[in-house]
Amino acid sequence: MKNLKFAVLSGSERTVVRVCNVKVGEGFTIIAGPCSVENEEQTLETARIVKAGGADMLRGGAFKPRTSPYAFQGLGLKGLKILEKAREETGLPIVTEVLDTRDVSWICEYADVLQIGARNMQNFSLLKEVGKMNKPVLLKRGMYSTLEEWLNCAEYILNEGNPDVILCERGIRTFETYTRNTLDLSAIPAIKELTHLPIITDPTHGTGRVSLIIPMSLASVAAGTDGIIVEVHRNPVEAISDKEQALTSAQFAELARKTRKLYKLMNEIV
Ligand code: PEP
Ligand code: MN
Repeated sequence: MKNLKFAVLSGSERTVVRVCNVKVGEGFTIIAGPCSVENEEQTLETARIVKAGGADMLRGGAFKPRTSPYAFQGLGLKGLKILEKAREETGLPIVTEVLDTRDVSWICEYADVLQIGARNMQNFSLLKEVGKMNKPVLLKRGMYSTLEEWLNCAEYILNEGNPDVILCERGIRTFETYTRNTLDLSAIPAIKELTHLPIITDPTHGTGRVSLIIPMSLASVAAGTDGIIVEVHRNPVEAISDKEQALTSAQFAELARKTRKLYKLMNEIV
């Protein structure tokens, strides 16, 4: 990897990103919640479901990067206030996406982790802006990005002084159309040999299909991931965005139980 000063692995020291009382990169972290914050009831109910199922953090988009300008764009500030309420009730830290440099500093008043989505991975102004904040960043891999390009984006954030970057493999575009993306599992051990930063997996956007999420979560654990981020909805058929990939309460509980069990077993093997 050329030109990496801060992101490159030198020695065996690994970064652990602290988010409230959660340590990403130490043990196994589960982040779950709806694709979008749709309204208060849906978000609070889903927050309770993921808390009961064993999640460590709550995800939910208040600003949504949608392919169509006519699709639901998110509730914005109203959505962030709903997330704040969900955190108050459940104690789960909030992971939420930021789309625009102009919104970064005020979103920090609500978010515990700033998510940079796949479509914005190489938005260098946005990377520099979140790099100036005192807030952990979840940096998703761009859908057409190489590992080197991705790590250079992490470098942009680290270079501004923010050391708390969590990488997220969320699948890349290939010729395959059965799955929404192709989850690149080799990225997990590869990233571990290139950088000290923690990496989590998003098997939800990585497959786009509920039936594939548990198997690919387990495969990610076997590949050495530090955690997973998945979409859960209290009633998936009603979800405003990404309904075909949202887990039910029972599916999420099964996923959390199985991944934690496999993670424990993996640690016994190595
Ligand atoms: C999301 O997490 O809801 C999302 C839009 O993900 P990605 O940026 O990976 O497509
Ligand atoms: Mn989504």
